[in-house]
Amino acid sequence: MSGIRVRFAPSPTGYLHVGGARTVLFNWLFARHTGGSLILRIEDTDVERSTEASTDAIIDSLQWLGLDWDEGPIVGGDYGPYFQSERLDIYREYADKLIKSGYAYPCYCTPEELNEARKAAMRQGKPPGYSGKCRDLSPEERRAKEAEGRRPALRFRVGEGETVVKDLIRGEVIFRNEFIDDFIIVKSDGYPTYNFAAVVDDTLMKITHIIRADEHLPNTPKQIMMYKALGFELPEFAHVSMILGKDKTKLSKRHGATSITQYRDAGYLPDALVNYLVLLGWAYDAEQQIFSREELIEKFTLDKVSKNPAIFDPDKLLWMNGYYIRETDTDSLTKLAIDHLSKAGLVSSEPSDEELTKIQAVVAILKERIRTVRDIVNQGDFFFTEEVTFDEEAFQEFLTRNYVPEMFRELKVRLEAISPFNRQTTEQVIRGYAKEIGRKAGEVIHPLRVALTGRSVSPGIFEVIEILGKDTCCKRIDSALRKLRQL
Ligand code: GLU
Ligand code: ZN
Repeated sequence: MSGIRVRFAPSPTGYLHVGGARTVLFNWLFARHTGGSLILRIEDTDVERSTEASTDAIIDSLQWLGLDWDEGPIVGGDYGPYFQSERLDIYREYADKLIKSGYAYPCYCTPEELNEARKAAMRQGKPPGYSGKCRDLSPEERRAKEAEGRRPALRFRVGEGETVVKDLIRGEVIFRNEFIDDFIIVKSDGYPTYNFAAVVDDTLMKITHIIRADEHLPNTPKQIMMYKALGFELPEFAHVSMILGKDKTKLSKRHGATSITQYRDAGYLPDALVNYLVLLGWAYDAEQQIFSREELIEKFTLDKVSKNPAIFDPDKLLWMNGYYIRETDTDSLTKLAIDHLSKAGLVSSEPSDEELTKIQAVVAILKERIRTVRDIVNQGDFFFTEEVTFDEEAFQEFLTRNYVPEMFRELKVRLEAISPFNRQTTEQVIRGYAKEIGRKAGEVIHPLRVALTGRSVSPGIFEVIEILGKDTCCKRIDSALRKLRQL
């Protein structure tokens, strides 16, 4: 271990989304590259919004992505507990220190009063922040407020001057303290705020580098003030840029799927996501796009992280997923396919040997054409259904031609006679038959494709025929004939 310690500190108020996944990935890569440790800390002090289900979902997504942590929930560690809700005594202790040293003071203002004060300030054209009303209350005044039954919040006394954030990605960012009002560190319900708890924990957990999203940059001067007030040593900071949609606005649900769970369910591969996410703000050089995990661990450094916003491009992710699917061996892909096919009710979740062989064959021929594992369902459902569902346009274009009924009847007779029934033997017979009746191969194959698959586009027709088998092919030709008679 190198002594380098980083952390991912999600608030369990929802799923792990693309932004959070990118943050944890950068931390993970930094830890693995430097031989350091990654700590997972659950920031669950917002009692109203934190849920266990979210914690589980986040952990689930991390595991699915294959991003492991060295300390935290499940694995434990020497610096726990790793849930902030179990560390309230610790925060209390440091809050008391800040009170004693005069850096923190109780504020008795109610939310209503604060709201009124804010409005009044705005009416007078003054900044709407906290006025410092309770900064210098005398002990008697405090006692009087307590006697009214008011439970105070604790505020940090912001000093004069400026606070400099030295950021590994953004350089020096200077904040003027006059624009930062005395912020709350412990709420009136006794729970610490994020800024305060994070400083205490990052120090006690010996975090050396804080790598997190840009949106926290305005919090950093407040945190630095607390580090100084508590006599803590400052860690290094690295704020990674925002992720925007293609329209250059902050990535949100409007841009499509944003949670990692959604991508998993949609048939994306963890390796593809990891590879895609790392490129949101990091580049090794101008060219290379595809990186194995080992390569990422070897190559990832913070000096190649950009301070410019990253653009999330779902099409590129889809392309990359297709690439990773083609790189995956058929057996592994088959396992994933079974998941999706069984959820769609097309195969059983524990397929028989016969079913398995068929799934494998389908996966093998679709592998080159699909971009998500789910596409196996979308493009290959007809292999597993009893009947085909005709695409109306394909039916009209290819099956209503006047030569089709007679051709199908004869074709069926020929197919029935083929033995062994495979892609080579059927191809020979079908092409031979086309020649015999003086038609181009396509004039036979296109209608046949619609009859067998329901659509005008499919993988190679002879491979399809082989997988469907003689019985199914003949039955489907019959159904098409029946449907034509009913017109
Ligand atoms: N709980 C905070 C969040 O999820 C952590 C921020 C940080 O990394 O300091 O945004
Ligand atoms: Zn107050």
